[in-house]
Amino acid sequence: MEYLHEIKAILATPKDIVITTHRNPDGDAIGSSLALYYYLNRMGHTVRVISPSEYPEFLEWMPGVKDIIIFDTDMELSKKYVEQADIIFFLDFNALDRIDKLGELIAPVSCTKIMIDHHLYPEPCAEYLISDTMASSTSELIFDFIDRLGDKQKIDSIIAESIFTGILTDTGSFKYSTSPKLFRIVAELIEMGVDDYKLQDLIFNSLHEKHLQLLGHCLNRRMEILEEYNTGIIWLSKEDYARFDIQRGDTEGIVNYLLMLKNVKLAAFITEQPTIVKISLRSKGDFSVQEIARKHFKGGGHKNAAGGYSFQSLKAVVRKFKELLPEYKDKLLN
Ligand code: 5GP
Ligand code: MN
Repeated sequence: MEYLHEIKAILATPKDIVITTHRNPDGDAIGSSLALYYYLNRMGHTVRVISPSEYPEFLEWMPGVKDIIIFDTDMELSKKYVEQADIIFFLDFNALDRIDKLGELIAPVSCTKIMIDHHLYPEPCAEYLISDTMASSTSELIFDFIDRLGDKQKIDSIIAESIFTGILTDTGSFKYSTSPKLFRIVAELIEMGVDDYKLQDLIFNSLHEKHLQLLGHCLNRRMEILEEYNTGIIWLSKEDYARFDIQRGDTEGIVNYLLMLKNVKLAAFITEQPTIVKISLRSKGDFSVQEIARKHFKGGGHKNAAGGYSFQSLKAVVRKFKELLPEYKDKLLN
């Protein structure tokens, strides 16, 4: 955080600020954005959060979430705020193509741009880059950011709950990317008033019957285990989307079930979306899915959680994924 004193100086007078995060925002994208939103707002800045697309239903309880401007449905307003911004924050993504058309709108704007992110290989699209690929989440980095600006005492219960939400969802309830430092931060958040039981309940126990039916369908009818490669695949077709009325966020977490199998080291969740086929990858241990996503599916992410997409058919993408496995066989069997 070598630039911190410069950022502190910029933030010393009231600014017009836009916070933006990645398409199909998850708990960390929304949690980090709202935490920074409330912090900057309380410092006297004028702040707007713009998300490229809608946030998932399981985050609807979050304070401030309804004020997020959705670029897909509010382009004119987004354009106005981007063009008048003094500062734009990029949270929880590492390249402008992760925010599609919103990125095209932002690229030519010559204001101060600050990226705070934990994905591998951030692209140089912001003048200030605060990147820590070892961090559990961007929300953890927001806690650090506020702390290093000397403002930890300004973290109130709403900011603390937003940060906790991002940490909880990105670590899969403290299963991945944890560290002693993370648990210290979490302890502080709880001391600041976070009710961890209440938040676990709000975030994870808000499913509808169709979600469990969909999960059952995935595990019973759409799962394939390739024992010779320690790999599991679940795929969903357009017809499955219609049958289960699958909306944004409804498939969150399904890929992780594959990792519950003792021998599965690599998991893929492949879904047929309206214009693309999306692939979500997860792995255990040292096996890097980031590399597969980047090399073969125009994507990226982290070592153990990455994703990408393809314009080929669902069948072709499933086949392509299977055909890649021999190349990684040695690493998968180790
Ligand atoms: P998920 O599988 O939950 O959608 O995403 C897992 C991780 O991979 C996230 O950190 C996400 O940012 C990254 N990721 C998912 N899809 C893409 C993609 O299309 N492009 C890139 N660069 N990263 C992705
Ligand atoms: Mn994240």
